[in-house]
Amino acid sequence: MNPLIRIIPASLVRFFAKPYVAGDSLEKAMETVRRLRAERGLLSTLDLLAEDIREQRQVDRNVQAYMDMVDAAAATPAADRPTLSLKPSSYTTRPLHEGGDAAGSREAMWQIIEKAAAADVDVSVDMEGRQWTDFTLDALQRFHAEGARNVGCVLQTRLNRTEQDLAALPEGTRVRLVIGIYQEPAEVALTDKAAMKARLLEQAEALLKRGHYVEFATHDVQCVRRFLEDVVPRTGVGPDRYEIQMLYGVPRDRFLADLLRQGVKCRLYVPFALGWDLAIEYLRRRLDEYPAMMWLVTKNMFSRR
Ligand SMILES: Cc1cc2nc3c(=O)[nH]c(=O)nc-3n(C[C@H](O)[C@H](O)[C@H](O)COP(=O)(O)OP(=O)(O)OC[C@H]3O[C@@H](n4cnc5c(N)ncnc54)[C@H](O)[C@@H]3O)c2cc1C
Repeated sequence: MNPLIRIIPASLVRFFAKPYVAGDSLEKAMETVRRLRAERGLLSTLDLLAEDIREQRQVDRNVQAYMDMVDAAAATPAADRPTLSLKPSSYTTRPLHEGGDAAGSREAMWQIIEKAAAADVDVSVDMEGRQWTDFTLDALQRFHAEGARNVGCVLQTRLNRTEQDLAALPEGTRVRLVIGIYQEPAEVALTDKAAMKARLLEQAEALLKRGHYVEFATHDVQCVRRFLEDVVPRTGVGPDRYEIQMLYGVPRDRFLADLLRQGVKCRLYVPFALGWDLAIEYLRRRLDEYPAMMWLVTKNMFSRR
């Protein structure tokens, strides 16, 4: 991360990145989910911001929060129901490569996935930095082997291993395909964004041809167009086999409205926190990825919508 972003005071990070977070309670986040669907026709995947976990009580709080999210999602009519996104690192007090509790993290995710399956709620396991990839894909295999069909995963096209990972996925798994937000070294990953985007299209095609449901997640409108106009027709699949995903707060309103008019399913990733202090790490990453956001937010304050 850019060291300058690291030293921006938390209060300022919060100010600039506020449009990316749906509030500081589940109630506020669910209100956003309802509004996005009712006013714009957009579906959501709801994510609890819970990074930098140090104590078991934080792990327990995260599990409980997801249990509540399952109840809230299940109470929503099926056609409007949000999916849930979760991160394995939210369930261990140390990263796995620093001796974290892999079995505990898997067990916590399983509790959530099992409850979600019974309530007909879909869950996606987000993909974190490369130290988590083996663990996350292995957990997915185990959940699938246990019979869970409501759980999907994320693959990052920047990683060179993704081609093999893709070929080893359990049959029919729902896959969110992204370029990947974590900086990874050139020995294991592409470092050029254009190449990552080319792979995004290639690997989306491979996934569709292998029978997977593809969640094509990028804000790059040219890339989305190429997916819809070139890749999808080549595979011959219908609109029930893919969707477009973007992050809540990234200004793509008109583009998404056009896609919806064309009958393309669109979903926003909607993060919320149980308190602003818990959202700061996520918000710093967004600022690091897109510093122009500081300018955009300032400009929006002075211009009428
Ligand atoms: C729904 C969703 C889920 C994701 N889940 C994961 C995950 O589990 N693991 C993971 O590693 N990564 C995840 N990502 C992040 C992803 O890997 C990329 O880092 C991120 O989407 C930026 O890449 P891009 O493909 O949008 O292309 P970019 O080239 O970065 O962006 C395209 C254009 O969009 C605009 N833009 C991009 N970001 C922003 C922003 N924050 N604010 C305003 N405008 C912006 C810029 O104008 C840019 O030119 C997710 C992304 C999405 C959309």
